[in-house]
Amino acid sequence: MTTVPKRMADLPRDRHGRIVPWFVAWPGGQPDHRVADHHKFHQALRAGLCWLCGGVLGRHKAFVLGPMCAVNRVTAEPPSHRDCALHAVQACPFLTTPHMTRRTTGLPEDHIDPAGVMIRRNPGAVGVWITHSYTVQHRADGPLIEVGDPSEVLWYAEGRPATREEVLAAIDSGLPTLREQAEAQGAFAVRQLLEEGYPAALALLPATATGEGA
Ligand SMILES: [Zn+2]
Repeated sequence: MTTVPKRMADLPRDRHGRIVPWFVAWPGGQPDHRVADHHKFHQALRAGLCWLCGGVLGRHKAFVLGPMCAVNRVTAEPPSHRDCALHAVQACPFLTTPHMTRRTTGLPEDHIDPAGVMIRRNPGAVGVWITHSYTVQHRADGPLIEVGDPSEVLWYAEGRPATREEVLAAIDSGLPTLREQAEAQGAFAVRQLLEEGYPAALALLPATATGEGA
């Protein structure tokens, strides 16, 4: 079991005693762990704040992302501290329970979907993508973050380091969806996915069965 990073220990708790990450929205005065506060999205990017604890980030930006995001390198979630991200992938129930689906009932009415096409299924494996750079793309349906080349990618499944096979299976199961999206954009996008995005993601998989190293 992971210990709570000092930066996250002082965050508010919900009525079950669970830590409420900084990005979580509080509709009606109660935290809804499924919903990100879109004001925090802009605040985090503008001020360089950690998505999970709200503290100021250093040079390293750690993105918590699914295997599909490792292929197309875009995410809707701003970066976090490395230790905050590593804690989240080991302790957050949404990230550690492969068959848990996010309930969508009772979402606040003003809830805004993140920009871009989200793949609404639990990916089975989650990565902590550590980089020094990212760019924000302003699309018609809202901003998306393109992550820079990683210095390190650490993969987790069920709260422990993922095996190479688990990450590979997660990537391959999502590939048809990515391919459909690329086909809608044209032949260039398909070629880019199959010749660049997909092989580049495979190169970032855990090298060994224990999930250590990338
Ligand atoms: Zn943090």
